[in-house]
Amino acid sequence: MKVWEQNIRRVTPYVPGEQPGERNIIKLNTNENPYPPAPGVVQAMRDFDADSLRRYPDPAVSELVHAIAEEYGLRDEQVFVGVGSDDVLAMSFLTFFNSDKPILFPDITYSFYDVWAEEFRIPYEEIPLDKEFQICVSDYERENGGIIFPNPNAPTGELMPLDVVEQMVAAHPDVVVIVDEAYIDFGGSSALPLIERYDNLLVVQTFSKSRSMAGMRIGYAMGQPQLIRYLNDVKYSFNSYTMNSLVIAMGAAAIRDRAYFEETRTRIIATRERVKRELREIGYRCGDSMSNFLFVTHDTVSMEELFRELKEQNIYVRHFDRDRIRNYLRISIGTDEEMDVLLAYLRKR
Ligand code: PMP
Repeated sequence: MKVWEQNIRRVTPYVPGEQPGERNIIKLNTNENPYPPAPGVVQAMRDFDADSLRRYPDPAVSELVHAIAEEYGLRDEQVFVGVGSDDVLAMSFLTFFNSDKPILFPDITYSFYDVWAEEFRIPYEEIPLDKEFQICVSDYERENGGIIFPNPNAPTGELMPLDVVEQMVAAHPDVVVIVDEAYIDFGGSSALPLIERYDNLLVVQTFSKSRSMAGMRIGYAMGQPQLIRYLNDVKYSFNSYTMNSLVIAMGAAAIRDRAYFEETRTRIIATRERVKRELREIGYRCGDSMSNFLFVTHDTVSMEELFRELKEQNIYVRHFDRDRIRNYLRISIGTDEEMDVLLAYLRKR
């Protein structure tokens, strides 16, 4: 090893799902939305004045912050926006998890949490989910420097009821508790109403799933103004201009179209429930996912083999080579037609 290499910040990077170039595949591997963004988003792109690109964008992202605040009945000072919720979460780790005590998150969860913790040198402990893949609040009763979990959890899709989320937040008033609600719009109850009562709660959501805009990279956090101010201080000390002018305009158009949002998420939920039922009928097992994916297993079929077989059929799903979940596949909910192709293959194999 060269001497200069000893001073490198080495990390084992997060591995995102594949984004293959071919068009004729059925892509059920990254929990994207199968429907296009709201019509207003395309209009905002058409109306965009390219000359404005000479200027730096608004560092406070005011238009988008205001549109999000309005949609959720909040004040602008309660909202923070970033480049996808990955950016919002990374900034939150840097801002709120600065203790010598370990932060806590589930052993089976979003596989970026341990990457950020390693990267930022934050001590952490992974708390095992129970046998039914549920988070047990009592397991978190130990010294910690903060808590984060997705609700619904990923990749299991299991939802923690709102009263249990409140128990977790209330039990840890001395640290920040982050609820990562990337998938909350597919049937869960958001912890957002709790932010009025709990100054240690940060709720993080994204435009990537329920708003069909993964390619735009918009995520946001909601909490009391003091939390949001601390988050902004770190953001401005890292990169003041995270959101570009076009993204700000298109994001604001997306969040204002509530009818389209309701229509597409309802459709995805209906497809999920049907696919859940049909998979169970042909012998697969899956939990009661409240997200836009199913976490599927089978008592006699090897999921690793099935993963490869499906790929040969041009059906991309996600397999995690990790203890406890090696015999599971995470299957995103696509259109009804896409799911029918998958089901037809599983029925005849
Ligand atoms: N949280 C969870 C639980 C996720 O599954 C994802 C998607 N990979 C994200 C956050 C990040 O999503 P994005 O950066 O696209 O908002």
